[in-house]
Amino acid sequence: MNDDDQRLDGNAAAGVLSEVFAVEMTTAVGTCAHCGATNALGTVQVYVQAPGTVLRCPVCSNVLMTIVHAHERLHVDLSGVRRVEIAG
Ligand SMILES: [Zn+2]
Repeated sequence: MNDDDQRLDGNAAAGVLSEVFAVEMTTAVGTCAHCGATNALGTVQVYVQAPGTVLRCPVCSNVLMTIVHAHERLHVDLSGVRRVEIAG
């Protein structure tokens, strides 16, 4: 199984993102902290085989966001996202 076999698009993260954010996040635009690319979260690369959900930049593959359920808590790392723009 190679990398392409495991990669989904950002819509695969819609459920877990809705647990973290109370607004529709697949249309939110995130800016990659590594390369500066801006993409709707619904279009980023998502890996769900990891211990949690991993969102990666479609341009440079930088990890944008990880969301892990552990010990009845949701652990969210947003360090790979410089900015998120949410329709409001
Ligand atoms: Zn990037």
